[in-house]
Amino acid sequence: MTNNPSDTVRADFMSMTPEELGAYTVSLGEKPYRAAQLFSWMAKGAPLDAMTNLPAAFRKKLAEEGEYRRPEIERKLVSAIDGTVKYLYRMTDGECVESVFMHYEHGTSLCVSSQAGCAMGCRFCASTLNGKVRSLTASEILGQAAVTAYDTGERVDGIVLMGIGEPLDNYDNVVRFLHLVSDERGMGIGLRHISLSTCGLVPRIYDLAGEGLPVTLSVSLHASDDETRSALMPVNRRYPIAELLAACRAYFEKTGRRVSFEYTLIAGRNDSREDAARLADVLKKGMRAPCHVNLILLNEVKETGLETPQKARANEFMNELVSRGVNATIRRRLGADINASCGQLRLQRQKAGEGA
Ligand code: SAH
Repeated sequence: MTNNPSDTVRADFMSMTPEELGAYTVSLGEKPYRAAQLFSWMAKGAPLDAMTNLPAAFRKKLAEEGEYRRPEIERKLVSAIDGTVKYLYRMTDGECVESVFMHYEHGTSLCVSSQAGCAMGCRFCASTLNGKVRSLTASEILGQAAVTAYDTGERVDGIVLMGIGEPLDNYDNVVRFLHLVSDERGMGIGLRHISLSTCGLVPRIYDLAGEGLPVTLSVSLHASDDETRSALMPVNRRYPIAELLAACRAYFEKTGRRVSFEYTLIAGRNDSREDAARLADVLKKGMRAPCHVNLILLNEVKETGLETPQKARANEFMNELVSRGVNATIRRRLGADINASCGQLRLQRQKAGEGA
């Protein structure tokens, strides 16, 4: 891990591993065992004044000399349909990002953001409309999970890095986050219960394969030919489909983890039967390894002018893939009444700010 959180002027101590926190705690004149207590409290999402077994003087020192980058809840929406909770979290500098807490039969899952805004420019996406402001620190990504657990009183069983931002454009902080969130002394979320979604930054996929972290790689494909994909996702001009699939295959070979592909259906752009047939072909030739396709109905973002197809279209698309031997499912939409897809609350708040 390259970035050292104690290098900053005010130490970002929630980004520290227990070992780094031990050294920091000692530097503040405290006994090393206080670091384990502090790490465990932070993993629970507790504010400093709730850490009652830590000396008040130590907590004061942490507040004054360090910076506890625990996100605050700016807004919270709860779905009346399925109990999905959407948070708008405010970082210590005022930047806001979204997280979505979902309940499935097999447990809970939290979708977290990795950046404030996004630089990737995908045509259909709300998160990238105003570009990227900055990457989140490991603490700010971890904090979304910890504070959600604190606020709901529930355990977060799994995490998907599918919120605002491109996780592989914030590589070091995301890898640090993966170490922190899976640490048994903290949240202890198994890496096998974590998915990282990327638009396809090929060199970083190879890097991630080499980290020895068994996370599921989820790749946003959204098209089966380079022309269509480049029109929807500018990143494809840099890393075209063949190179991307070669990286996915390498990821599978190195980690043994089945790669999953996201394919958002957009009316008239990528949702025809021919698109499905070509997708099956491209995956079979390019991957030659087990994979799964998650079909997503476009969540319409007014500014993009793109439209979502009929549900029947999605079923036809899925059947075409399955009949050609490709695993595919349509993603169930949770929190439909609270617009739980990411990027839209942050956008609303930015607009409100501009109008003020
Ligand atoms: N940057 C990462 C992760 C964030 S987006 C990535 O590109 O994978 C999470 C998923 O939602 C991606 O598959 C993304 O393409 C998709 N997505 C973004 N906007 C969407 C929209 N309006 N409707 C449906 N899916 C969308």
